[in-house]
Amino acid sequence: MAVTSSSVMLLRNFSTAVRIAQSVRSNSRIFSTGELIRSISSTRAAHNEEAAAKAASDTGAPTIFDKIIAKEIPSDIVYEDENVLAFKDINPQAPVHVLVIPKLRDGLTTLGKAEPRHVEVLGQLLHASKIVAEKEGIVDGFRVVINNGAEGCQSVYHLHLHVLGGRQMKWPPG
Ligand code: 5GP
Repeated sequence: MAVTSSSVMLLRNFSTAVRIAQSVRSNSRIFSTGELIRSISSTRAAHNEEAAAKAASDTGAPTIFDKIIAKEIPSDIVYEDENVLAFKDINPQAPVHVLVIPKLRDGLTTLGKAEPRHVEVLGQLLHASKIVAEKEGIVDGFRVVINNGAEGCQSVYHLHLHVLGGRQMKWPPG
């Protein structure tokens, strides 16, 4: 009798193990090779961005964006007016990835440095982000991001808004 009930237990455990193995095998089919490569490269990009943010600091020195504003180095401009410049990110994290910056930094190395005198330009940057989204055909679904400081993953100390879209965004962000 004891032998019979332990045999039943063994059989039950075996069939449970088979079910788990089948489920793991079928779930693993949802990851195609392309998805795995994309996932590995996005993890690598996140680490590069983190490393760049840790290496940078808010010294108030001119940044690469000053050269882009002065058109000393080329950029792919999406929108420009008197106060704002919007250009494609050199290392896009989405099919659409545009940076929107104030032409005059005026102390805005980070959003954390914003003062009442900046309210107007902050509004202009948000409005320009919406114009960029329209121009890029993503106005019905997009994300605007401002990284602030090293822990916020900021690597360039000239305030900028990232306008991202063209793919399904995830939440929470990394
Ligand atoms: P942050 O990490 O500070 O929020 O974002 C800085 C962004 O500037 C990054 O996404 C980075 O790819 C972008 N970037 C850095 N240097 C250049 C450049 O020379 N040209 C362009 N178009 N983007 C740049």
